[in-house]
Amino acid sequence: MKYILLSMIFAVISSCSSSKKTTNAKEGTAETYAETITSAELKEMLYIYAGDEMRGRMTGSEGQKMAVNYIKDFYVKQGIPSPLGGSDYFQEIPASYFDSQKEPADSENVVAFIEGSEFPEEIIVISAHLDHVGVDDEGNVFNGADDDGSGTVAMLEMAEAFQKAVKEGKGPRRSILFLHVTGEEIGLYGSRYYTENPLFPLANTVTNLNIDMIGRIDPNKEDTPDYVYLIGSDKLSQELHDVSEEVAKKHSDLELDYTFNHENDPNRFYYRSDHYNFAKNNIPVIFYFNGTHADYHKISDTPDKIEYDLMTKRTKLIFHTTWEIANRDGRIVADKL
Ligand SMILES: [Zn+2]
Repeated sequence: MKYILLSMIFAVISSCSSSKKTTNAKEGTAETYAETITSAELKEMLYIYAGDEMRGRMTGSEGQKMAVNYIKDFYVKQGIPSPLGGSDYFQEIPASYFDSQKEPADSENVVAFIEGSEFPEEIIVISAHLDHVGVDDEGNVFNGADDDGSGTVAMLEMAEAFQKAVKEGKGPRRSILFLHVTGEEIGLYGSRYYTENPLFPLANTVTNLNIDMIGRIDPNKEDTPDYVYLIGSDKLSQELHDVSEEVAKKHSDLELDYTFNHENDPNRFYYRSDHYNFAKNNIPVIFYFNGTHADYHKISDTPDKIEYDLMTKRTKLIFHTTWEIANRDGRIVADKL
């Protein structure tokens, strides 16, 4: 709110009195692209993505196939290519890979790619899981609006912002892989499959920023809701942690809360979402998370309960962090191995 107002005043003043150069002072900066990430667009997409028609997006189900087509169609419409080439945005995973399932079925990760302008071989992976847990015995849909519809549509908005930058000649210096992984809820399968069958060498994978649940407020944080939990940022790279902190100070009013990052945290969230498959391959990660709540893994995790303005702030923070990692001079180093 504050930023928009200031920039409007700035634009008015500039257009009245200043040179063209002053008017364009903010053009092409991370701020201008971050402004394209809006609460209204996140909401519009999430009501579809976590709608009843997707039938809870259970891995291998028809609803999950609808979900991957929704994601693919978005990238096609934005003109963001697939790293697989042509119109194939799916990294296919055979049914046999899902060995914990009674009736395993084929599934797929969805991938889209923005190539870096200067260091194209250095890859930043942004991830969120596309699946959820399906329907219950009575046919009630687990919408999974927060888990992980929120991370999914946040990625789409970020991709759109980066693509706008590309079109205006301000694309990232390093490459960004948008990796929507399947099979998370049944055992982190999609991210494990990706790291066992990477599209780009893991040695060139700079970092993984993983988003799993960023649309709600932990009941313990109701008095201070402008927060996001960060997990893992300092585990493999002090540099990544420091960069993440600097970006937040500069671009966000969110509190970065490390409650669940502690080594002895009984929840062990560090091991419980897709970033862990990257971390175990010595790739520095940050896991963005709002904590659990009364609707976690219930049929009541619905889009009407999402805090869209807060989710927008969190998405912008992750966008700015990605922007910095992609554009800074040096590659993030895993300096704590
Ligand atoms: Zn999840």
